[in-house]
Amino acid sequence: MKNLECLGEILEEKELEIEWRAMTPQTESLEVFPEAREYLLDRLNRWEKYLVSMRRIVRNQMDWACLHKDEFNKWFWAEVIKIDDGNLLNLVAKEIRKMEILLTPDEKSSEITDADIQRARDYPIKDLIGTDKDFVLCPNHTEKHPSFCLKKNFGYCFSCGYSCDTIKYLQDAQGLSFVEAVKRLR
Ligand SMILES: [Zn+2]
Repeated sequence: MKNLECLGEILEEKELEIEWRAMTPQTESLEVFPEAREYLLDRLNRWEKYLVSMRRIVRNQMDWACLHKDEFNKWFWAEVIKIDDGNLLNLVAKEIRKMEILLTPDEKSSEITDADIQRARDYPIKDLIGTDKDFVLCPNHTEKHPSFCLKKNFGYCFSCGYSCDTIKYLQDAQGLSFVEAVKRLR
């Protein structure tokens, strides 16, 4: 797996989609070995719990980094957290996505089309969030001053590095799968 640079890359949906396509042929093995499904579900469950607790830890650490009075320390510790835990978060999120893909091989191809995905990505992110501002409060952590920038129909947080397109935003905000989010944005 390639080296990941920052926390925000968790939300590289396009990359995940490419991985999904690459993984598809392997879903045949699940049909041959149905017991693998049970094993994968169990693994998925444990990884998801781990991701939730990891995210909580990173958020707390980011909040702590933001408490520093001087800008250098604030920046320095935020970078340390991004490199240390951001990479780990990315890897965990990708593992989860892979398992979800393996467990639902036909979900995407049978229910949504590439045009649906494109339409969902083009849905105005400001309408989705319900704002007309360029900067809003980051959905990934608590903050007093808006760091979450909305530009070119993407969101990016200058404080924690969280980034998302419309699909990912909806997935995170409402705990939806990729397909569910795309359907809502039709
Ligand atoms: Zn943030």
